Amino acid sequence: MSENPLTAHPRPRARVQAMKEYHPPLGSRDSLRLDFNENTLACSPKVQDVLARISAKALTRYPEREPVEAMVAGHLGLQPEQVALTNGVDEAIHVLFETFLGTGDELLFPVPTYTMYEVYASATDARTITVQATDDLQFPFERLMAAITPRTKIIAIANPNSPSGSIATREQILEIARAAPNAVILVDEAYFHFHGETVIDLIGDVLNLVVARTFSKAYGLAGLRLGLLAGSAEVIRWVRRVLSPYSVNSLALACLPPALEDVSYLDWYVSEVLAARREFEGILDLIGLRHWPSRANFVLVDIGTRHAEFTQLMRAGGVLVRDRSNDPGCDGRVRITIGTRQQMQQAATALDQAMTMMRKEAKAK
Ligand code: PMP
Repeated sequence: MSENPLTAHPRPRARVQAMKEYHPPLGSRDSLRLDFNENTLACSPKVQDVLARISAKALTRYPEREPVEAMVAGHLGLQPEQVALTNGVDEAIHVLFETFLGTGDELLFPVPTYTMYEVYASATDARTITVQATDDLQFPFERLMAAITPRTKIIAIANPNSPSGSIATREQILEIARAAPNAVILVDEAYFHFHGETVIDLIGDVLNLVVARTFSKAYGLAGLRLGLLAGSAEVIRWVRRVLSPYSVNSLALACLPPALEDVSYLDWYVSEVLAARREFEGILDLIGLRHWPSRANFVLVDIGTRHAEFTQLMRAGGVLVRDRSNDPGCDGRVRITIGTRQQMQQAATALDQAMTMMRKEAKAK
């Protein structure tokens, strides 16, 4: 008999057995990265200075998050007990779902949207209810309102939304919060800086409102994994029971104050992206490619049936873009992150070449 008499591996929870594996295409990304809506350049030089000065000794200590949380709260005009730092917005979503969603509860969100809502929801015992965006991929306010039930426990709204770049208005969010008083309304403002409008100021007044922010996009710190959840002190207290007190590492905590302080870098990057977006949209119009109005650092483009070939041709031309064809209502659509004007000139050249090649092939057939 062998040392270990087991013949089968241990089985996880039934929910986990039913989950799909999610593997975002993060490999081989040395080209121009217009596929994950990151900052395409760099973080603030002030953050780079701080990073360069971190000592080996500093790394021997467990990270202390409270002073940095208090500083971020001050920056956002909130009280320290209204803010929890997280390991990216992803951890914020995960922990919020684990805190609030139980058997019999419903999680409600519009689709298409950010994939991780579905992933984290599928690990809970709650039911996921999705409502399709309008035909022109705008926020489906009426449908969402009609889908609220007494069992609705969380409503998740990415604002601006990905991959469409569409927005929900402040009035719509307020109406939803009023219509679902027993639910947490999660407004994911990952792309806030490119939109410029927020509901974070309503925290304290609207008790069921929770806002998520990330340092992965405009701030250029996706690799550090830094996000936050802001909400009423009571909601944040519940979340803290589930949240690891160690999940934001000391490099991220050290970089956060200089990132927040360097307002001019952030303003410069955002205005560069907005100028690049205007130029790139103009180029798409010239080429005759349909696209959706975006309030974020990306634009969704209708490529049609040859979306996979297009994505490959762009990669061959040194530009990574994200095929969103599998998203509900997005067949044939590809999302292109907006970088600097210079980078978008490079993207436009690659796009023009890809389209020319596809047209030539179509003619030859
Ligand atoms: N929310 C939305 C709407 C996103 O698009 C993304 C990133 N693609 C995230 C959250 C994830 O942010 P983080 O890197 O902070 O986990």
